[in-house]
Amino acid sequence: MTTKIIRCPCGTVVRARDEDSLVTQAQKHARDVHAMELTREQVLAMASPE
Ligand SMILES: [Zn+2]
Repeated sequence: MTTKIIRCPCGTVVRARDEDSLVTQAQKHARDVHAMELTREQVLAMASPE
């Protein structure tokens, strides 16, 4: 599987080699830093190939 990344507007880059890991990390970041709950669909919609 290819690496995917999410560039958060705050400047944080979340990078993962599989979808589950990307979703988990992005959800944790959104919750911890932005007090936001993201769905899996929202995370994947923000993701782009590296
Ligand atoms: Zn952020």
